[in-house]
Amino acid sequence: MTPALPPRVAQQFDDALASQLVGLRREIHQHPELAFQERETAARLIAALGRLGITDITRIGDTGVVARVPGRDQSAPIVAVRGDIDALPIVEATGLPFASVNSGAMHACGHDVHATWAVGAASLLAANPAVGDVLVVLQPAEETGRGALSILDSGALDDVRAIFGGHVDRRFEVGQVVADEGPLAASADTFEIELVGRGAHAARPHESRDPIVAAAAVITALQSIVARRLNPATPGVVTVGTINAGSASNVIPDRARMTGTVRAVEPKSRSLMLDEVKRIAESVASGFEVEARVTLEHGTPPVVNPAQPTQWARRAVVSILGEEAVVSLGFLNLAGEDFAHYMERIPGCFLRIGAREPGGEVIPAHAPTFYAAEESLFVGASVLAECARVASRELASGGAK
Ligand SMILES: [Zn+2]
Ligand SMILES: [Zn+2]
Repeated sequence: MTPALPPRVAQQFDDALASQLVGLRREIHQHPELAFQERETAARLIAALGRLGITDITRIGDTGVVARVPGRDQSAPIVAVRGDIDALPIVEATGLPFASVNSGAMHACGHDVHATWAVGAASLLAANPAVGDVLVVLQPAEETGRGALSILDSGALDDVRAIFGGHVDRRFEVGQVVADEGPLAASADTFEIELVGRGAHAARPHESRDPIVAAAAVITALQSIVARRLNPATPGVVTVGTINAGSASNVIPDRARMTGTVRAVEPKSRSLMLDEVKRIAESVASGFEVEARVTLEHGTPPVVNPAQPTQWARRAVVSILGEEAVVSLGFLNLAGEDFAHYMERIPGCFLRIGAREPGGEVIPAHAPTFYAAEESLFVGASVLAECARVASRELASGGAK
């Protein structure tokens, strides 16, 4: 075991288990697969679970896997632990000996480690079971925001009473864990605005209904949503990310099209901002006698950790890593995370798990040089297994409604 690993984590893994997990992580990292294409990955994970004696496995769709680890009391409430397994369309530039051999795909978000720590948690729970059964969810397609829904829609988690998951984070050292109550990731919705006017010669603008001028006004007006509609105590973002119109300098086109994203950390501001995008685009465009066709697409909801499961998670982190391991995120993250879909239906807690080796660089997720320190997989496995044990015990003893 490497010196970077906290002793209370290291003692849970014998050499055989540790080398199996390291091997599994490297294999998955080397053979990344994109959202809903994780067939080899799922097969590797199922084989690894089998080698660890976990055989009660349900396939969800093509690439999702739910493994059941029996508890001590089969009638006790069920809890779940989730690891996501998909990669990103990025050309890897880490130079790792186990770098991607699937050109154009890369585990640049650390889901290779998440998948492995879920398998590790399953093994730890088999050796030292929770009160009730624990479902270990190996979830495809987090990056497209669709994977969690595919698991939920299958009904596999219908009886689950609490769910825990985590994300590697190189802003924190191995052994540090963020288990903050409240908002941890933003909703990520998209909009498309098509402005339909009337084309004309650029020298005869009076014969046109110019969608480009209308687009300029709409974009400016959209900035007032955050500045003037949103409560300033609540964070939010409205960004226009693309704008396309026109084909020649002497032609007024008949259409302009823009797309953008809306980020929020609570449901009320989320729906306010989406409603305002539509209302403002339509009303501003109509002032130019241009029609605005607005399409809103709901992406992932915000991740907001509720009080009780967060306390359980903190207790789990402290018992595995000690008080000093619990750190605060210290800023508000407006990236999205599809774990939010579970938390709309099941109480739970989403953790950020330190993945920087001592003295290592802070590398942002989704960068072509991103990787998680190997030791973080042991921290994630033991913390998530302990979250499941604490939640299971509390739910069984009636500690939650
Ligand atoms: Zn990601
Ligand atoms: Zn991720």
